[in-house]
Amino acid sequence: MDLGLKNQHAVVCGASKGLGYACAEALAREGARVTLIARNETELVAAGKQLRECSGAQVEVVAADVSTEAGRALIVGQTENVDILINNAGGPPPGQYVDWSHEDWIAALEANMLSGIFLIKAFLPAMLEQRHGRIVNITSVTVKQPQALLGLSTAARLGLTGYVATVAREVIARGVTINNLLPGYFLTDRLRSMFESWDSQAGENASVSEQKRLTIPAQRFGSPSEFGDVCAFLCSRSAGYMTAQNILLDGGLYPGTF
Ligand code: NAD
Repeated sequence: MDLGLKNQHAVVCGASKGLGYACAEALAREGARVTLIARNETELVAAGKQLRECSGAQVEVVAADVSTEAGRALIVGQTENVDILINNAGGPPPGQYVDWSHEDWIAALEANMLSGIFLIKAFLPAMLEQRHGRIVNITSVTVKQPQALLGLSTAARLGLTGYVATVAREVIARGVTINNLLPGYFLTDRLRSMFESWDSQAGENASVSEQKRLTIPAQRFGSPSEFGDVCAFLCSRSAGYMTAQNILLDGGLYPGTF
């Protein structure tokens, strides 16, 4: 199936590793030109080199923090003719409601809500002008299925989800789709380090990662390339009638019918 992504320009945020990198790789393999965004320049340059080598695609990098106004301005200033925007950033740390300060809330909102909102706002006018664009936001299964200790992350992501529900319907008539991808458990560096920390707290005979795995109907964690492939489909020509959706990729973890 030709996804129609050849020579499309994709800006992928949070893309030096994990799910962001997997989305960038899937898009690059389909012939898109890709600009990778992440904060750490050394890691980003290495990721860019790896992606160029494995896909043969044109790959550029911009070191920027999407959770700051300055970082977002840098991204917008250094990219042009953007057809595809993938919004992504690291999630806030887990914790309990009593511990979260005003500062913690602002940091979570900047990273997981406002970063997406302001990058959408910045890139939409040109997409609407060319009457074509694809925007995908990486959120989380927790927006549908709340999980203990992830209140900061979930609340911020739900803010972005609510915004997308409105703006996506305002722009679809002019060829731009906006959807959210909701990962369950995918084996990325982030998940591995969370498991290491949980397992070390659980003691010798218990493996939290193994318990989590058994809660997933698929009985396995997702691989980032499976996530990237769905992202590439959402960015394809074929997905032009699909907008304002929250698409779960969780091996059946979310227990509801809808
Ligand atoms: P990861 O830590 O493996 O990768 C995150 C990437 O984003 C890295 O490249 C990092 O450098 C970059 N990044 C982080 N903060 C940034 C910022 N402010 N500006 C620019 N770049 C930034 O994480 P992941 O597992 O790929 O997760 C990606 C997102 O999906 C996170 O928000 C995470 O909470 C969410 N999520 C992941 C899973 C999972 O199973 N992996 C499940 C649910 C939700």
